[in-house]
Amino acid sequence: MSTPYDVIVVGLGGMGSATARHLAARGVRVLGLERFTPAHDRGSSHGGSRVIRQSYFEDPAYVPLLLRAYELWTDAEKEADTDLLTLTGGLYLGPEQSTTFAGSLRAAQEWGLPHEVLDGDAVRARFPTITPAEGEVAVYEERAGFVRPEATVRAHLDLAARDGADLRFGQQVLDVTETADGVVVRTADGTFTAGHVVVSPGAWAPSLLADLGLPLRVERQVQYWFAPPGGVEPFVGHPVYVAEQAGGAQIYGFPSMDGPDGGVKVAFFRRGKDTDPDALDRVVTEAEVEEMRTRVADTLPGLAGPLVRAVPCMYTTTPDEHFVLRRREHVTIACGFSGHGFKFVPVIGEICADLATTGTTAHPIGLFDPERFG
Ligand SMILES: Cc1cc2nc3c(=O)[nH]c(=O)nc-3n(C[C@H](O)[C@H](O)[C@H](O)COP(=O)(O)OP(=O)(O)OC[C@H]3O[C@@H](n4cnc5c(N)ncnc54)[C@H](O)[C@@H]3O)c2cc1C
Repeated sequence: MSTPYDVIVVGLGGMGSATARHLAARGVRVLGLERFTPAHDRGSSHGGSRVIRQSYFEDPAYVPLLLRAYELWTDAEKEADTDLLTLTGGLYLGPEQSTTFAGSLRAAQEWGLPHEVLDGDAVRARFPTITPAEGEVAVYEERAGFVRPEATVRAHLDLAARDGADLRFGQQVLDVTETADGVVVRTADGTFTAGHVVVSPGAWAPSLLADLGLPLRVERQVQYWFAPPGGVEPFVGHPVYVAEQAGGAQIYGFPSMDGPDGGVKVAFFRRGKDTDPDALDRVVTEAEVEEMRTRVADTLPGLAGPLVRAVPCMYTTTPDEHFVLRRREHVTIACGFSGHGFKFVPVIGEICADLATTGTTAHPIGLFDPERFG
């Protein structure tokens, strides 16, 4: 029996929409299935902004993927005729031995990325909003900034549809079954067959991919917008930043993007509470707001004003905080992006399209093999 689809993509969030876009651009017959609406706020790809940077403290092995991602961000902007990536510069601040400082420096040096090392006085002089603690130092790189998650998902969906992808929303996938020559994907509305499936379900990976037994944790993570008491002006054109304190707590934030009354966004990196993705607590408590404000007051005192809004989101985290990406037989999985995946969205789409169509990819993805969990 012939099927109208070569590849089904399950989950059209950050990674799935990019995968559908890359597959459709190659002339592959794609069916995309998403349980919610396009660019919704129930998963991991909402909140207006995501940091993008190159001197990658998580591991220098990510740098070649980032260099390719930057090319693909520019390409998607051109193709979709929309703004997705804004370069602001990026500052990675912490004690000399911290992951944020030492890891960023290591990646910059290993890959010869343009960067500057600033001591505390130089940081204060150049970025008066930032007050480094005694002994804190920073890596600054120009080629960092932010990308727009909802606009990115929409752009990738539009480009995929333009190139012939069949994208269906309000379609919850109930299960995926492999057959001798492909897959059967079942939703409440019916079953669909194809030669291959890419499963990119974000925070629903632990349930949809339960039979793989991946060690994934789903964490609730809140994005906060504060009104700077002295106005947003000092945060207009501000660099993105990651700031780590002795003890390891990292915060990160953005320039003013939402006008004089929209507040300025900041968040904790990691340290979230475990959550069930179907029961995400959307109420942000006064105690949570106070914890964030207190931490902000240490490093960016001019931002520690009244809360404008707070929006929860989810990380799907692996024990080593590296992604999960692999093809086996008729199934490619892309999940476990551990709170740092969005900047890679277009290159993950390209990799999933490679794996789905050729079984392999020229990109270095050894770090993401789930075999590492044993
Ligand atoms: C607060 C916060 C801040 C972040 N900051 C950054 C940052 O600054 N920089 C950065 O690079 N990354 C950041 N990230 C991480 C990044 O946003 C994620 O890694 C990325 O969005 C994950 O994309 P995804 O496609 O895996 O998940 P999603 O975008 O959530 O997509 C998964 C999709 O699958 C759908 N789905 C699930 N199950 C089914 C089913 N059964 N049937 C049909 N559809 C299904 C879901 O509805 C969803 O649309 C942040 C994340 C959060 C939450």
